[in-house]
Amino acid sequence: MEAVALKDRQNQIHVKGQAPFNITCNQDSLAGAVSQRACVFCGSRVVLYPIADALHLVHGPIGCAVYTWDIRGALSSGPELHRLSFSTDLQEMDVIFGGEKKLRLALLELIKRHTPKAAFVYSTCIVGIIGDDMEAVCRQVESETGISVIPVKSEGFMGNKRAGYQAACDAMFRLIGTGDTEKISRFSLNILGDFNLAGEIWMIRKYYERMGIEVVANITGDGRVDDIRRAHGAALNVVQCSGSTMGLADMIEEEYGVPSMRVSYFGIEDMSEALYDIARFFKQQYPDDPEADAIMENTKTLVQEEVSRLVPELEQYRQALAGKKAAIYVGGSFKAFSLVKAFRLIDMQVVLVGSQTGTKEDYAELEAITDPGTIIVDDSNPLELTSFLKEKAVDIFVGGVKERPIAYKLGIGFCDHNHERKEALAGFEGMLNFAREVYSSVMSPVWRFVPRKQKTENLPPAVG
Ligand code: SF4
Repeated sequence: MEAVALKDRQNQIHVKGQAPFNITCNQDSLAGAVSQRACVFCGSRVVLYPIADALHLVHGPIGCAVYTWDIRGALSSGPELHRLSFSTDLQEMDVIFGGEKKLRLALLELIKRHTPKAAFVYSTCIVGIIGDDMEAVCRQVESETGISVIPVKSEGFMGNKRAGYQAACDAMFRLIGTGDTEKISRFSLNILGDFNLAGEIWMIRKYYERMGIEVVANITGDGRVDDIRRAHGAALNVVQCSGSTMGLADMIEEEYGVPSMRVSYFGIEDMSEALYDIARFFKQQYPDDPEADAIMENTKTLVQEEVSRLVPELEQYRQALAGKKAAIYVGGSFKAFSLVKAFRLIDMQVVLVGSQTGTKEDYAELEAITDPGTIIVDDSNPLELTSFLKEKAVDIFVGGVKERPIAYKLGIGFCDHNHERKEALAGFEGMLNFAREVYSSVMSPVWRFVPRKQKTENLPPAVG
């Protein structure tokens, strides 16, 4: 590998086939490395944000609220309170004398004005420093208003983005177990870790309906407080973005005995496997129940119909894109597995794959499914990514909002697989959208006018 990497980060980069697999990951970012990761507060905000009928109040300076305002682009089929960003706007005098009074007044005013189903109050760095007792204020407002007011312990400096996911899971867990579960079907599930970008959760819900399965709560996309309260009554938690919500699934399993299953809704292979795994789960639970047999039959019909419709349409893109190179850098590594498979389906080669928050097991799995020479990287930064993209001469980079400018500055195509996208990429329809988008970006005539920057240009020297 010729690419540039900070000396202290070299064990977070692995090139398949060059050395035995032993990547370092799941640790705090190296100071000064300009990690692509967000802070703990931001991590909690993205997970809780899609609960559309809750009030989300950021206790801190206005900048923290602005930074995460409407952050996910998660769509709602009803209320849109989540899209407003409220802040206590802490100022110098609040920092000196404390912000508890301001927080209480803000909560009372907002609850009166918006009548939310619940309120989440996020702590930010400065709140952790001045030591406001958010728990006490939330308890007091809850008793005054009768609305669940839940503190989210998400001081930005408290760890890395994964700590924010856990803080969000801890906060949501306080709601679970407080709703009536009497009429929930035996064949039911909760959807965790899909954020309803571009309406994807609505597509996935339709698949479950066609299979004959009741969805109790969309916990992280188009979410509703009352549904989350009943989530412990579902038979299964189906977890997609495992980095962000596996902690919640584990807590529900421990407290209420609801098992969980990791799935991915991206790509034909993983989408089909997810539906079959769920059908098999119910068949194992109720081996002699005709309803479980019907679910399996419905699943087979659904997958056959969708795949037979999709494959001929994909063929034109596969032929045009065969042999092109792709790079992937996403938040959670589980999504990366599906992307590797999705690119393979259209005959493209993945030459770089990385994530902000992957675990050692995740990276080992990535190592197993990628080709020799593929760069696998944990918690990367713009300098490294730029260097990898040049070295591998990629045709398209898949990432989120912070990766987009890196691609465009290098004169290569980009596919947004995160917050800002407006096109559904999940499900069977999503695979077709994905292929179409990759095709449009890679083959766009615009690249004739934007010279691609190659590795032969002067690279900055290795530092560290
Ligand atoms: S919580 Fe801290 S790190 Fe996060 S946005 Fe606010 S000030 Fe920045």
